[in-house]
Amino acid sequence: ASDSDDDDEAEDWGPGQGPRGPDLPPMNPTYRYGDPSLPVGRYRRQILWLVENHAVTIIVGETGSGKTTQVPQFLLEAGWAESGYAIACTQPRRVAASTVAARVAEEMGVSLGVEVGYAVRFDNAISERTRIKYLTDGVLLREMMDDPLLTQYSVIMVDEAHERSLATDMLLGLLKKVLKRRPDLRLIISSATLEAGKLRDFFDTSTSGSTARRRAALAAAAAAAGAGVGGVACSEPDRTPAVVTVEGRTHPVQVHYLQQPAADYVTAAVSAAVDIHCEDLPGDILIFLTGQDEVQTAVAQLEEHSRRLGGGGGGGPGRPSYSLRMMPLPLYAGLPGAAQSAVFRPAPRGVRKVVAATNIAETSLTLEGVVYVVDCCFVKQRAYNPLTGLESLLVAPLSQASAAQRAGRAGRVRAGHCFRLCREQDFAQLPKVTVPEMQRSNLVGMVLQLKSLGIDNVMRFEWLAPPPAEAMVRALEELHALRVLDDDARLTKDVGLALAALPLDPSLGAALLASRQLGCVEELLTVVALMSVPHVWAPAAGSLRAADEAKAKFAAVEGDGVTMLNVHQAWRSSGRSSAWAGRHFLNASSLYRADEARDQLLGLLRRHGLLPANTPPPSCGTDMEPVCRALAAGQFMAAAVYEGTQYNPLAAESDPGVHVYRLVRYTAHKTAPLKLRIHNSSVLWRSAPPCVVYRSVQQADSGWYEMQGVTAVRPEWLVELAPHMFHRPK
Ligand code: ADP
Ligand code: MG
Repeated sequence: ASDSDDDDEAEDWGPGQGPRGPDLPPMNPTYRYGDPSLPVGRYRRQILWLVENHAVTIIVGETGSGKTTQVPQFLLEAGWAESGYAIACTQPRRVAASTVAARVAEEMGVSLGVEVGYAVRFDNAISERTRIKYLTDGVLLREMMDDPLLTQYSVIMVDEAHERSLATDMLLGLLKKVLKRRPDLRLIISSATLEAGKLRDFFDTSTSGSTARRRAALAAAAAAAGAGVGGVACSEPDRTPAVVTVEGRTHPVQVHYLQQPAADYVTAAVSAAVDIHCEDLPGDILIFLTGQDEVQTAVAQLEEHSRRLGGGGGGGPGRPSYSLRMMPLPLYAGLPGAAQSAVFRPAPRGVRKVVAATNIAETSLTLEGVVYVVDCCFVKQRAYNPLTGLESLLVAPLSQASAAQRAGRAGRVRAGHCFRLCREQDFAQLPKVTVPEMQRSNLVGMVLQLKSLGIDNVMRFEWLAPPPAEAMVRALEELHALRVLDDDARLTKDVGLALAALPLDPSLGAALLASRQLGCVEELLTVVALMSVPHVWAPAAGSLRAADEAKAKFAAVEGDGVTMLNVHQAWRSSGRSSAWAGRHFLNASSLYRADEARDQLLGLLRRHGLLPANTPPPSCGTDMEPVCRALAAGQFMAAAVYEGTQYNPLAAESDPGVHVYRLVRYTAHKTAPLKLRIHNSSVLWRSAPPCVVYRSVQQADSGWYEMQGVTAVRPEWLVELAPHMFHRPK
């Protein structure tokens, strides 16, 4: 659909020549941003031309070709961020937003938070002067609540659309509506894989499908209405989405499989990496695992091997001598900043980086220098069962599309190798593509947001792919139970509108609102803030036992919520010292963010008239019962009762057994009883309180659903809170 394919042409945009946003002054000719060596640089003119002329431009390109870091810089240079406009680029992952913003600020030689900034929930670095803003798709959705047409942006780039996160899918549906109202807005959708066809069809709002006919029709209509034909032509962009495919420079990657299935993929991944290392050929190794704990285990094991093997100057007596020394590094979302930059720094001479990463290295972040990929072929995913209403995280088989992405990471510098830790015949059985998150999530938060944006008929919203009807119905039921929706499925004035204003999970938001009557807003602000920021505990690999001991110092019999209060109090008494946090295996940056979240939530409560402005928030002092009651009020859908303890007949006498819980919530559908237990990260995992509410559930390999963020509650509270939901306990 483009006019030019100027692969080899030198860039020669002079003042006034380039495509620009509407009615903007000439560009500053001296600006040269970005890294011209990246593949996307060759498509710069084409992309700018398409963006100027089309409402929607879809960019498909290999990971690492420069879409995320370069395209916003092209737009800035072309004048799209003048006259007070900003350029937004959304990311499904928090880490990606802040990391990429830092990288772009560095490329432009500006400090982060001024011209280039990022915004993620409860943390941002932006100012009045910010022209390029990297933000999570969730934050952009929040911004729509205050400004439904997103008027501060001239271009919105929805990045990593292939991930099909819940928020991305929702955003695409909403942006389609916004585009109808804002002919000046441009949308760029970038995707690592070919979802392009579906996206193009979704956004194609041209009546005939043919640009020329569309324009002629518009001109005729305008002429009939007595308007100037020219005016229509330039204010109305082509409504047919344009597609650009950026050819990356990738090298072939040879894929290897196991002969026998691996019993434990973490150990198998470590030994595969060690074997590769011992071949003594140059190139970094990237290992894909599913979560932070696995990454830490792998790094600890690799460190042991590294000590044993030596290298980078010769092994000791009796050891083989390797020319390279192995440097194991972790990469996961909760990683403290300094450790994260270490991963991106090139390995020093004589050193081989071996990075153990979660899924964030699949497409969001690119590491240079990787020649070998070791892929466990699993991924941690959300799963939702609308029959039980249980949403959980579980380790699921990877899709073949994701596996191909992961393998591609090995071909950045030269021909590479990918080692999949499964047999070839088993790989062939894996699902072809990942099921979009919308199809496997609890939709309560989404429905609440759509309702508050004035979309009353959520069932008829235009979706890229509609969510399952049962999940929708379930969400409506839950919102009704929380008294967020009235009998006509409209947001209630007291709870519904208030809850929509809070950037919290509906259950935590409802707990915070309930704390007003219970006189413990001060405490609940802290609890929900700490429960909303991820990775508060940051035990390093190899120090898990010490970390458990540190955590025990704060443990409260009431459960994890009150434990969080103790943590926060001690953090405040330490003068918010990072050293103190480090000593207690707490993540100082998460604690700072929790403080930020607290302030923001307090501000929102006041701004929306939910709390008086000039008095401190009510506190319950040392009595923790109101805190537990408030949590119960928000989380009553997630209540479980103790059923008994299962002992393993083969285990030692001292084995505490497994405390089994059952979901309390009345379910209309009879399903197989669910096995719930308290996750061992909870302070309550050894004690067995008769009744609990939980924050989230994770499904273990063994099939157990493990509750996290657990609070002990009294069953009578639940009956009082939601008589319509519960049978009176026997
Ligand atoms: P895409 O979005 O197409 O996947 P990116 O724009 O993210 O590509 O990355 C382009 C290049 O910039 C990659 O080669 C990557 O290695 C490099 N890069 C991105 N972020 C960083 C960073 N924080 N540090 C060093 N290099 C980076
Ligand atoms: Mg990218």
